[in-house]
Amino acid sequence: MTKTFVLDDDTLIDSQIVSDQVHGGKSLVSHTKDDDSYILHCTIEKSYRWPFCEVSFQIAQDKGIDFSEFSHIELSILSFGEGPQKVRFYLRHADDAYTDKAKMETYKINEIQFDTNKHQAPLKIPLNTFVVPSWWLHERSLSPFDAATELSNVYYIEVSTGDFREAGKHTIYIDDIRLHGKWISKELLLMLILVLWIAFGFAFLGQSYYQTTLEAKKQRKLKDELEKINQALEIEKQELADISTKDSLTDVYNRHGLSQYLPALSRGVKELGESTSVVFLDIDHFKSVNDENGHDVGDLVLQGFANLIKANKRDTDILVRWGGEEFVLFCPVTTEADGVLFAEKLRQIIANGVWPENLMLTSSFGVAQMQPHEEIADLLKHADEALYTAKRTGRNKVIAYSKVVNKQAS
Ligand code: GH3
Ligand code: MG
Ligand code: MG
Repeated sequence: MTKTFVLDDDTLIDSQIVSDQVHGGKSLVSHTKDDDSYILHCTIEKSYRWPFCEVSFQIAQDKGIDFSEFSHIELSILSFGEGPQKVRFYLRHADDAYTDKAKMETYKINEIQFDTNKHQAPLKIPLNTFVVPSWWLHERSLSPFDAATELSNVYYIEVSTGDFREAGKHTIYIDDIRLHGKWISKELLLMLILVLWIAFGFAFLGQSYYQTTLEAKKQRKLKDELEKINQALEIEKQELADISTKDSLTDVYNRHGLSQYLPALSRGVKELGESTSVVFLDIDHFKSVNDENGHDVGDLVLQGFANLIKANKRDTDILVRWGGEEFVLFCPVTTEADGVLFAEKLRQIIANGVWPENLMLTSSFGVAQMQPHEEIADLLKHADEALYTAKRTGRNKVIAYSKVVNKQAS
């Protein structure tokens, strides 16, 4: 993950040597090269106040090199001669605000100075220790605000003799110059980690939201399915209840179905003083209907019989198939006399009805009214007795229980 800039034949565009002669001094400078080094030969003359020899390596042409993300420089530079062997090292940055590209002195100097006798090569120097010398700012009439090190647009690398050079010969061997940096700066790395964490957080939230929605969808589906099953069960339950309370052939109540009405019927009579009557119906000679026309025709007749009564009874009357071809009609709030009138009406409708196979059909009726001291069982027994009388006395007739009793009494 590190990036490196090496000053070599690939990166070097041009080099130039210069001495204090440009300021009127007399120091001499020349250079040679061997396999390993660029060698600067310098003869310092103390005639100028700040004598120096220098080499300037050009590393950029149209656009400077950005070293701002580099962390340190590694220098293998040795210097030999009398006295301290200080070397100045410059990275020169261009800025349109103060640089005239044609004038070397207008490139900003970012400098470090070190004594080659006191350090072992290669010398590792962090780039944040480079400084802009105050004399350079002063010469350019720049403010101290421009004193910040700038390395984003570097065109030149320079090596020069440093302070306190004695007069005489000095030789500087420049073996290696290289800059190192991380591809990703610490700040950028931290930012990336932060961004990754935030992205991770969002992804996690998104995933959780997705899971929750999925779960909710599943729950809703399950709920819908359960509701459907419940509805189906409810229908089935109703059907089962109907089966257990209704007669499958005629779709009227069976005895079990009647039981739910009995308490109310009984209370009506005993507590509210209502008159309740019951009509017992029995088809006459039904056996011969079966015998002469077959059981299926018998069934059709039974269905037609039940339908006819259903169509003519009141909503509050309860029709029950008592068994075989016997039916019982419970009539709340009905006196025996009214029950007789109603039974008579039914008798005529049946006798005049149109029946399968053009059969002539009649039926007999026994009517009784429940007395307050009586139970339902007594009422049924009385109506049955009246029906028995109707059968015995010729069929196709309505007999009231009160008449049966009167006859018995007389
Ligand atoms: P009565 O006039 O004295 O009432 O004579 P009946 O023939 O009507 O009476 P009986 O009790 O002798 O015969 C009733 C017949 O009803 C006998 C039985 O086979 C027939 N039956 C009972 N239940 C059904 C049924 O569900 N379908 C058919 N087709 N016949 C039935
Ligand atoms: Mg009969
Ligand atoms: Mg019968």
